[in-house]
Amino acid sequence: MSGNTETIFSKIIRREIPADIVYEDDLALAFKDINPQAPVHILVIPKKPIPQLADAESQDHALLGHLLLTAKRVAEQAGLSNGYRLVINTGPDGGQTVDHLHLHILGGRQMKWPPG
Ligand code: 5GP
Repeated sequence: MSGNTETIFSKIIRREIPADIVYEDDLALAFKDINPQAPVHILVIPKKPIPQLADAESQDHALLGHLLLTAKRVAEQAGLSNGYRLVINTGPDGGQTVDHLHLHILGGRQMKWPPG
């Protein structure tokens, strides 16, 4: 894994570009997606620049757990008591467009299955 990948999300972490940040701790940041696909659309990212899930290593297991628990916490904070969807697009076939691992929290409407 190339741990030094610079993306727009690195700039958001460093506050070099603005974002609507809804949660932050030492390991993670959550902010509203700039192009929301649902009434609530929040991205949860690790501060560590892991490019995609496929690049995560065994040493990242606690961080990955933290991201899931952070997503749960942020979803609760956003009022998604009736449920929500978590999405991790991974690589070209997964539709990933920003090479910094991120969890999409999508909620506030009925989700469909299968996704496109
Ligand atoms: P992906 O397609 O990689 O799974 O998701 C990337 C997401 O990042 C997209 O939903 C896109 O709207 C969002 N995004 C891209 N650039 C920015 C930005 O500068 N600010 C914010 N808040 N979201 C962004």
